[in-house]
Amino acid sequence: MNQELLRRLPSVEKLLHALGETEGLPRALAAHLVREYVARLRAGAAEGQAPPEFPAAVEQVQEELAAFARSRLRPVINATGVMIHTNLGRSPLPERAAEAVRDIACGYTNLEFDLDTGERGKRARFLETALAALTGAEAATVVNNCAAALVLALRHLTAGERKEVIISRGELVEIGGGFRIPDIMETSGAVLREIGTTNRTRADDYRAAITPRTGMLLQVHRSNFYIEGFTETPDLADLATIAREHGIPLVCDLGSGAMVDTQQCGLAEHEPTPQEMLRRGADLVCFSGDKLLGGPQAGILCGRADIIAGLKRDPFYRVLRCDKLAAAALQEAALACLEHASAPEGTPLPLLLMMSAPLETLRARAERLMSISAEVSKSFTLAIGTGTSRCGGGTMPKSSLPSITLDLRPLRGSVEALAARLRLGSAPVVGYIEGNTLKLDLRTVLPPQDEVLASALATAAENC
Ligand SMILES: *Cc1c(COP(=O)(O)O)cnc(C)c1O
Repeated sequence: MNQELLRRLPSVEKLLHALGETEGLPRALAAHLVREYVARLRAGAAEGQAPPEFPAAVEQVQEELAAFARSRLRPVINATGVMIHTNLGRSPLPERAAEAVRDIACGYTNLEFDLDTGERGKRARFLETALAALTGAEAATVVNNCAAALVLALRHLTAGERKEVIISRGELVEIGGGFRIPDIMETSGAVLREIGTTNRTRADDYRAAITPRTGMLLQVHRSNFYIEGFTETPDLADLATIAREHGIPLVCDLGSGAMVDTQQCGLAEHEPTPQEMLRRGADLVCFSGDKLLGGPQAGILCGRADIIAGLKRDPFYRVLRCDKLAAAALQEAALACLEHASAPEGTPLPLLLMMSAPLETLRARAERLMSISAEVSKSFTLAIGTGTSRCGGGTMPKSSLPSITLDLRPLRGSVEALAARLRLGSAPVVGYIEGNTLKLDLRTVLPPQDEVLASALATAAENC
């Protein structure tokens, strides 16, 4: 009888022919998706499920193609209030970073070419020097992301007999997306030597765990959570003393690594900077390019020149190196940070502007948006509300900033349906739901996007 069901399966050719247009997807890509669809029907038929009639199948395929087309990478308006939103691509880049990428993307560049001599040059020398200056380190280098930086450091520093890395149980964290620091560390071949307890680890615990097999001491910054109460964490300077006594490197995984004083930006927490870690005695610090630095995805390693040189000679470094586009974007983000350090008024970094945007400015934008969106009130009401923005990206979980929101309340239908309408528009808007209200936090909406947001609101109102 399943033979009968199988005979009723629509043919890929016929479906493709019946589709009007392919949602802007190349024909070959649409064909791939249609084949997948028919394969699913075939699997269902084998289990006794009847395939849909041909017109229904065409409709289903058309819907699937449209949903697939929407998943193509494109700009999204982040109205969630989460500034470093990992699911939305973490930090927005400064304009100059995008320009630098555009300038070299379709042509050639002096990536590994010395224009002075006309010969092969050092890759990313300018970038590495800028990052060393920014972090106050002897030297710096860059790999694919912070996780890669950590694995490279572990592989390199725990080679040979010294396989063990000493880490506190209070720092065996999960960094998000189901990825856990201990699992990432073990892929390097290093052996974790856990010490202390979840809430308390003392300097003496590190001292007692050191053996001839110890390759490094590691401190992982508790970036996305905090522990309170009966806690104890040794001072980095004390760990540095112990490390030096035994001739073992002290490595610090900072995760985000602030480039500026986060408390000056109105945040409650002080996010440690790579400079501070190095000054307090870390030999090597790694952090992300796309968290508080405000650059592209990258992992930055900074610290002792001999260690950085060793890392760059490691064959594994070649596996993890970042490409010319990321290097160009990071170069400009680093320069913007350096310029900000000497002239805080100039060279605005989008993330810093976002953090330091005064409530009055956000309110003025909200009022303007209200005035140009007056028409939308047929399908939902629009009001100015308040909210709380957060750093996100596993950074400063205790810090929040007061913010101004546009509050949308549906006049018919559910608030979830309203949220979906805004997400599915040609300029997707992602907010958050609180009770029966869809809140759009204006702190994370980049000011030049206000016009787009206004027309997205108008479109959502029409399609109600
Ligand atoms: C975010 C984070 C990482 C991972 O950084 P990626 O750049 O995403 O690889 C590693 N360690 C800590 C402590 C982090 O917060």
